[in-house]
Amino acid sequence: MNNVIGHLINGEMVDTNVGDSNRTQDVFNPATGNAEKTVALASKQTVEQAISAAEAAFPQWRNTPVIKRARVMFRFKELLEKNADAICRLIGEEHGKISHDAAGELQRGIENVEYACGAPELLKGEHSKNVGPNIDSWSEFQPLGVVAGITPFNFPAMVPMWMFPLAIVCGNCFILKPSERDPSSTLLIAQLLKEAGLPDGVMNVVNGDKEAVDTLLSDDRVKAVSFVGSTPIAEYIYSTASANGKRCQALGGAKNHAIIMPDADMDNAVNQLLGAAFGSSGERCMALSVAVAVGDEAADSLVKKMRVAMKDLSIGAYDNASNDFGPVITQAHKEKVEGYITSAENQGAEIVVDGRQPVVKGYENGFFVGATLIDGVTPEMESYDAEIFGPVLQVMRVKTMEEAMQLINDHEYGNGTCIFTRDGEAARYFSDNIQVGMVGINVPLPVPVAYHSFGGWKRSLFGDLHAYGPDGVRFYTKRKTITQRWPSSGVREGASFAFV
Ligand code: NAD
Repeated sequence: MNNVIGHLINGEMVDTNVGDSNRTQDVFNPATGNAEKTVALASKQTVEQAISAAEAAFPQWRNTPVIKRARVMFRFKELLEKNADAICRLIGEEHGKISHDAAGELQRGIENVEYACGAPELLKGEHSKNVGPNIDSWSEFQPLGVVAGITPFNFPAMVPMWMFPLAIVCGNCFILKPSERDPSSTLLIAQLLKEAGLPDGVMNVVNGDKEAVDTLLSDDRVKAVSFVGSTPIAEYIYSTASANGKRCQALGGAKNHAIIMPDADMDNAVNQLLGAAFGSSGERCMALSVAVAVGDEAADSLVKKMRVAMKDLSIGAYDNASNDFGPVITQAHKEKVEGYITSAENQGAEIVVDGRQPVVKGYENGFFVGATLIDGVTPEMESYDAEIFGPVLQVMRVKTMEEAMQLINDHEYGNGTCIFTRDGEAARYFSDNIQVGMVGINVPLPVPVAYHSFGGWKRSLFGDLHAYGPDGVRFYTKRKTITQRWPSSGVREGASFAFV
């Protein structure tokens, strides 16, 4: 089969499945609307082959000195930088995000590699001397074995790098199942690891769909699963992996609100909201999709200024850096996003700026939705409940900050949020009491840097540990505590029956 995006197993590219299944799926260029590639969908046997390769590589990799494991990451970081243009082009071709946005995503991914380079420090463990007579005790952090990652379409470079650099540098072997909608940049990144000196079998990529995922979830050799994607699938992954005795962290969807206080610097808030609501076509789990204005004066000013600012936004293909954002991922998703706009309209909201069915010259068949502003949204509306995941900003009007916070706390998702204000006391009260995992104060996309950890609350995260950073080290290792006695020569202690 020509032009099939295959799998990376045991250091080799494989473009067909083991067994009798040769299922494939089209990969579209969302700007043109054309299916330009196909991706192999791994059979159960193909995934099992990858698991076997990872299992075989584990004993040697786990015993490789941590400084040598870290050196692979140093070289990997350099290769990522050297190959940045090629990676960003693949992201653009299959995801549709504009080159500057792809470069930003890659940079945030590289920061996780840089954090992983510190593994010798991160894995030093804890030591206590003389916890009893001639007794010392220490805790060390051992790798789990074969671990898996399942990732979404919207960050094909960054989200996988939330997972595998840290997992690998901690001594694990990894199986990645990227999104089948835009797999090529992820695959290229994984191939660079071999060039960086990673032994075969330590990193494997299986492309595929539910069959591949279910194999990873049910195979006893897989010890832990990291997932990022939509909430219904996150919940399924978490419950299935947990029932099968695996450690699991499953990050789900979001509905991120910004509170616009009456004292906010409105011009600044508008600028920040433009990027946070419409950047990457709103296909970010941290996108701000709801602006809650406190008081009609703030709401009127916000809507007026947004309407003017949105006139200057340009949409188009990834390779024209003057575009602000590109298409959404599929035709079906475009229809879904536009369906939510229509449903808000039907339920009584005002469509202030209507991005449905935009005409993008030269890309008439692309999956484009223009920036959309909806005013007068209320909690009963279908478009408010759902994660629209498109370039749509909904404005809600409330009378007090408490009312705004109540809305956020009542929503099923709790990924990110932001307050725009000049009042430090209000900001402090907000960050202390809001039921959301990642909070911005005049920062619209408060995505934690690589040396903190990323995760939402409520139905935005299933599991205990957040992704990457210090929580990532904990997730990909298990603690062992050793207590050791070396009696002084000639001294023998008698039997003791008390628990001391
Ligand atoms: P998705 O849930 O459709 O897919 C994610 C992964 O799950 C893919 O690899 C896909 O192949 C697999 N999958 C899909 N259906 C499955 C099924 N029935 N059984 C087993 N596996 C299945 O998500 P998506 O559309 O690719 O990504 C967008 C979603 O991801 C949004 O909801 C977004 O908020 C979320 N997301 C969350 C975060 C976060 O950190 N919380 C980050 C990025 C994206």
